[in-house]
Amino acid sequence: MSEKFDVIVIGAGPAGYVAAIRAAQLGLKTACVDAFVGKDGKQALGGTCLNVGCIPSKALLDSSKQFYNLSHNLPAHGISVENAKVDLGTFIGRKDKIVKQFTGGIGQLFKANKVTAFFGKGKLLKGNNVEITGNDGSKQTISATNVILASGSVPIELPFAKFDNKYILDNAGALDINEVPKRLGVIGAGVIGLELGSVWRRLGSEVTVLEALPDFLGVADADIAKIALKEFTKLGLDIKLGAKLSKAEIKNNTVALTYEDKDGKHELTVDKLLVAVGRRAYTDGLLADDTGVKVDERGRIVVDEHNHTGVDGVWAIGDAVRGPMLAHKGSEEGVAVAEWIAGKAGHVNLDTVPWVIYTEPEIAWAGKTEKQLKDEGVPYKVGTFPFAAIGRAVAMNEAIGQVKVIAHAETDRLLGVHMVGPGVSELIAEAVVAMEFKGSAEDLARIVHAHPTLSEAVHEAALSVDKRAIHKGN
Ligand code: FAD
Ligand code: NAD
Repeated sequence: MSEKFDVIVIGAGPAGYVAAIRAAQLGLKTACVDAFVGKDGKQALGGTCLNVGCIPSKALLDSSKQFYNLSHNLPAHGISVENAKVDLGTFIGRKDKIVKQFTGGIGQLFKANKVTAFFGKGKLLKGNNVEITGNDGSKQTISATNVILASGSVPIELPFAKFDNKYILDNAGALDINEVPKRLGVIGAGVIGLELGSVWRRLGSEVTVLEALPDFLGVADADIAKIALKEFTKLGLDIKLGAKLSKAEIKNNTVALTYEDKDGKHELTVDKLLVAVGRRAYTDGLLADDTGVKVDERGRIVVDEHNHTGVDGVWAIGDAVRGPMLAHKGSEEGVAVAEWIAGKAGHVNLDTVPWVIYTEPEIAWAGKTEKQLKDEGVPYKVGTFPFAAIGRAVAMNEAIGQVKVIAHAETDRLLGVHMVGPGVSELIAEAVVAMEFKGSAEDLARIVHAHPTLSEAVHEAALSVDKRAIHKGN
């Protein structure tokens, strides 16, 4: 007879492992099945985020920022360092150690919470049975009252630029280059293209980014995107908008690209090409034909507002379902589903999920952009405040960007907060809390903010909504 659990989670990324831990905390007998193989050939829990996503990319972003600052920020402080060099082995090795620390940490958390980890590919069968196929081809079946599908996402591949992770790289490949490429091509000026393009640019690569759409970073507020584009151009990212790749050929240890823009056809030769044109929900081999679980036209598992698939006891969370493909969104869905299963009140508010892009300057936002509000016909008012007028930012020599607060024109309720500048990945949390509590611009304006801190930009932008910022003209 197959081993029986209260909950089986398929996938141990930030959605799945969090769901498993929360379910176990609530007293449910829980198993988590994951197939990810780490660099050492062993099971590596934590999914895309911990292995080849959030954590390793931030490790490289931080290392490359330190290096770049030596020549671009420290001289302004009167500090000079001659002949600074990067040892790429140490650079990548540090990232690998961090990954190992965190993926190993999930294993320890599973043990501490009595979550049983299975290593292999899980397939949902009818009746909430899960067949697990090990790497050696061995099979076993376990069953549960509830199954949570958390199979995540994979990069979208262009048919004429297939990943080989030698010349044509996906996110995993771009986190593991063993020599700084002289010329790096990036397809897609989205989150991955900008973050990983920045890493290699800071180490000296000539980086050309081809973006198919005519507007830069259309998901962000237009004012914020405009400032960011100017700064990325200063960094040396050559961002070509409205540029569609039509051919990528590997020739003489290089990649020969053909792309088209409004001026016609162009050729470009690069040493490596990162293709970052979005990700797709990953459900390959996840569902037996007769489970009744549906996928939509984009391959995402269909769920209701409670992440339920409509099939008794089957739930789905994270990148595999609708909503932003962000680690924290998946984790909160994981917590909520575990709580719903345990008969408690789960809660996820997709309207206040914060976005952060960890470039220099950082970009962060929560809620609606001005364009979205205009399209929806919602009356609004805007307050902005530049970091150039924030003492702490100037002291750091990082006085770039601004905070923009958008509030309802009549009720003053916060509708969106958008930031580009130093440390905004942390500043956005205040805006999320205020929005989650249905706060107003006035609420933010009345809160005492420590001086001198970067958070004063949020305070002043909130004051500026009613034209009463103190440290700028209104
Ligand atoms: P995943 O993390 O993709 O995990 C799914 C897991 O399920 C994987 O381990 C997979 O092997 C396993 N699996 C799939 N199918 C099966 C099966 N049938 N059987 C067994 N196991 C299976 N998000 C942020 O919020 N912040 C960031 O800074 C950030 N940076 C990123 C940087 C990069 C380069 C990339 C690629 C992504 C980044 N993301 C970031 C996005 C983030 O990684 C994802 O949103 C997040 O990992 C989704 O979590 P998940 O648990 O849904 O899926
Ligand atoms: P993305 O959706 O952020 O950006 C893809 C970009 O590629 C878009 O601008 C799109 O217009 C462009 N594009 C699409 N097809 C193209 C083509 N044929 N030629 C040129 N450009 C093309 O996708 P991504 O950068 O691959 O990242 C995937 C997802 O991973 C993100 O949307 C995000 O959800 C997640 N992620 C988050 C973070 C973070 O939170 N900091 C970091 C990395 C990834």
